[in-house]
Amino acid sequence: MVSKPASGDRVADATAFLRERGVLARCVSWGNQTLLVTQPDPSSSQIAELKETGIVERVAVSHSRAPLASREFQNASSVVEVGEARFGAEKLVIVTGPCSVEGLEQLLEVARHAKKLGASMLRGGVFKPRTSPYDFQGLGELGLRYLAEAREDTGLPVVTEVLEPEKVDLVAKYSDMLQVGARNAQNFALLRSVGRSGKPVLLKRGMMMTIEEWLQAAEYVLLEGNRNVVLCERGIRTYEKATRNTLDLASVPVLKRVTHLPVVVDPSHATGYRELIAPMSKAAIAAGADGLMIETHPTPETALSDAQQQLNLGEFEDLMKELEAVAKAVGRTMR
Ligand code: PEP
Ligand code: MN
Repeated sequence: MVSKPASGDRVADATAFLRERGVLARCVSWGNQTLLVTQPDPSSSQIAELKETGIVERVAVSHSRAPLASREFQNASSVVEVGEARFGAEKLVIVTGPCSVEGLEQLLEVARHAKKLGASMLRGGVFKPRTSPYDFQGLGELGLRYLAEAREDTGLPVVTEVLEPEKVDLVAKYSDMLQVGARNAQNFALLRSVGRSGKPVLLKRGMMMTIEEWLQAAEYVLLEGNRNVVLCERGIRTYEKATRNTLDLASVPVLKRVTHLPVVVDPSHATGYRELIAPMSKAAIAAGADGLMIETHPTPETALSDAQQQLNLGEFEDLMKELEAVAKAVGRTMR
């Protein structure tokens, strides 16, 4: 893998040099650098030869299956900015909102409350990936308009899930960050498409995915030159039935070691039960997560989806207060 703040000529020269040696190079823009990501890896003598030509500035050799996501390539932790929310900064990013946008009033109530309590982002599903086709599928574009209205009202940036490549432009028009859900975490066409959108991406862990596979999914987005990827641990499927999924909190410190990308935890989908959200939120922050995604609803018992795992507004308020001490203990802030 080679990089250089590049003119077109240099890219062409380096690409030709590699091609003559049977190595394909893909050009990726990475901030103000230009990268050539190679396949297969050049040999050490080819690398030495290439360095001698002076065409490239730096050669980074990564042993990772997801090199752009790896700390070998970029040691400094990435900070992903979405409006005023900064994933990976000292202030924890709390993303909250209903599982599904059900109406403007519901959304505004949650959003204003979230804003008042110091949450950084609003969530709300409008295209819902439901296991049963008979369940509520979301409000679609109308819901996107409500999200945009709630952002206008509160100043909170919004994140919402996109289910298919064909809808990426539409969802990107209304939202500040695109969510790729657990069920789509290895939908490679969708990953490429959100990568090309230029919007920050919240990539949930697929329920059957290893950490390495998850990072390879992130790599699809990064390879499109989109560096703004945030990983969201939301639990994996195991034989345990007492919780909806098994929250793999060890993934947080593992990811922190191997990748520069920010990591957040979603204790709502990970556990499936309201009473487990507070303890697992605290554990996630203690484990080093850069933030949380928590489902909230004015009246969870009437919710059209995930009724059991959404906090009501009072419960969310209590949790935000309780998190302050944990945040402080690990050198983070809530405000
Ligand atoms: C969601 O956050 O709305 C959602 C559907 O979560 P997941 O993809 O993690 O199941
Ligand atoms: Mn949900």
